[in-house]
Amino acid sequence: MLIQAPTGSGKSLLARAIAGCANTREETDDSDTPVDAFYTTPQVSQLDDVEEDDLLEDFNIVRGKNNYNCILPGHTDVPVGEAKCVRESGYDCASKQNCPYYVDRAAAVDGRIAAMTLAYFMQTASSELFDERDVVVIDEAHGLVKWAEMYGTISLSPRTVPMWDDLSVPDIDTVQEAVNVCSSLHSRTTRRLNALSDKHELTGAETAEREQIYRLRGNISWLIDDYEPNADEQEWVVDQADNGAITIKPLNPQRYLKHTIWDRGEKFALLSATILNKDAFCRQMGIDPADAAFVQVPHTFPVENRPLYDVTCGEMTKEAKPETLPEIGRTIAQVMKRHRNSKGIIHCHSYEIQRKLVKCVNDLGFGERVRKHTSDNRDQAFTDWKQSTGTDVFFSVKMEEALDLEGDLARWQVLCKAPYLNAGDSRVNARLEDGQWNWYFRRALQTLIQACGRIIRTPDDEGATYIADSSILDVFEKSKHEMPPWFEEQVDRCSEADLPEIEAGAASLD
Ligand code: SF4
Repeated sequence: MLIQAPTGSGKSLLARAIAGCANTREETDDSDTPVDAFYTTPQVSQLDDVEEDDLLEDFNIVRGKNNYNCILPGHTDVPVGEAKCVRESGYDCASKQNCPYYVDRAAAVDGRIAAMTLAYFMQTASSELFDERDVVVIDEAHGLVKWAEMYGTISLSPRTVPMWDDLSVPDIDTVQEAVNVCSSLHSRTTRRLNALSDKHELTGAETAEREQIYRLRGNISWLIDDYEPNADEQEWVVDQADNGAITIKPLNPQRYLKHTIWDRGEKFALLSATILNKDAFCRQMGIDPADAAFVQVPHTFPVENRPLYDVTCGEMTKEAKPETLPEIGRTIAQVMKRHRNSKGIIHCHSYEIQRKLVKCVNDLGFGERVRKHTSDNRDQAFTDWKQSTGTDVFFSVKMEEALDLEGDLARWQVLCKAPYLNAGDSRVNARLEDGQWNWYFRRALQTLIQACGRIIRTPDDEGATYIADSSILDVFEKSKHEMPPWFEEQVDRCSEADLPEIEAGAASLD
C-alpha cells in the first residue's frame, strides 16, 4: 500500500496502526507464517523523532553498532563496532547480556515492532538475525530509490579500498574493464582476509580494514555476478575521476530492493508526502502497480499559512548564473529586511552558491544575521543556529529534507536553485538520453515539495517560501499533473511579494 500523506497528517500513528495489524504468533497455527512488523526509514532524524514520541513507545529501536559504546571497564569510549568482541576471534564477553547494543538488538529481534534505519535494515538482509515479518512499514519511502542507487553504486577509491596505494589502476573506458578491476580486487581481498583471520586479535586499524573489505566485497560481488558481457542493453555505467577513482552505477538500482527489502515481509506500507505518481513510483521500486493500492491523505494545514512567493531573478543555468546570482543575493537581502524580526533559511543548493550569496549579502550590509555551515560542521552549525534566539539566517546546502523547523525556528525560506539531478552524472545522462524527462522533473518536484514543507509543521504554524530561480516555475509547470492536490493549491496561489527597498549597493560575487 502506497500512502501519500503530508506533514501533520498523523503519519507516525498511521505507521503504528498498520504495524499493529501484523499477525501475531498466537493468531497463526503455522510456525512458518511470518508474524510481527518492521518499521524502517531512510532518515536518521525520523527514527530520533520516533524514539521521542510517547505514543510509539512500543517500537523496539535498534541502531548500527557504532551508535553504542562498549561497557567494559576502560573501554567505555570504544564504539561497539571496534570493541574486543568484534576484534578478537572467539572472545566470549561476560557482559554481553547487559551491553546496550546487544540488549537493543535482542529486544528488536523478539519485539512485535522492530524499528531501525533503512541502512541497518538493508545491512541485516544477508544475516539470519531477523526472520521475514508479516508487515513492513517504510516511512519517508521516497528515499528508497536514492538508497537503492547508493546501495547499488560501487565506488573504488582510496576511501573504500584499503590497498588502493598498491593497486595500479588502469584508465577505464568500459564497464568490462571496471569488472576486471573488481575481479582482481576480489582475489586480493580474499588473500588479505585469510591473513587477518589467522591472527588471534586484531588491532583497531585491522578491524576497520576488515569491515571495509567486507563492505567492498559485498558491493563488487553484485557486479561480478550481475554483469553480462554480451548483453544487448548495458545495465551499468562507469565514471573515472582524475585520481583514478572508479564509480560503477547500475541503471536499474531497484533490483537491489528485492533481496534487501521486498523479500523481508509479506505486506508493505510505504508512507511519504511525495509519491506523486503511482505507476512511476512502482516502476522505480520494482513493484507491479497491480499489486499496490494508492491512498492519498489530504493536507490539514490551511493553504494561506504556507504561501509561495515568486521573487524569481532569472535562471541559474551555468551560463546565466553570473548575472542571476547577484540579483538573488539582493533579493535575499530584501527578504531579510521584510522579515527583520524572524529567523529564516536559505536553500543554496551548492557550497559555491552559498559562498557567493553570503558575499553578496555581506556587501549589502546584512552580514550580521548570516550563519552558514561547511561540509565538516553541517550538523553542529545547524543545531547552533536552531537553538539560537534572535533573527539569524542560515545559508544551507542540501538541507531540503528531514528538517523540522516548527514555529519561530524559521518563519521564511528562500529556494535559490531548482534541485535538478546532476545531468553530468553518467546515470542521469543515460536516462535523459533515453528520454526519461518526466522522471527528471519528478525528482526535482519531489525535493521542492519536501523543501516547502520544512517550515510548516503544525496546523497553526505559518511560513513563507520565496522562489528565486525561475527554473523552479518550469518544474511546477512541467510536473503540475503529478502534484498532490494540496501542493497544487499552494502553487496556484503563488503571488509576487512586495519587498522593501534596500540601499543601492554593489553586490559582487567575488
Ligand atoms: S559485548 Fe562486551 S566487549 Fe562487546 S561491546 Fe558489549 S560490552 Fe563490549
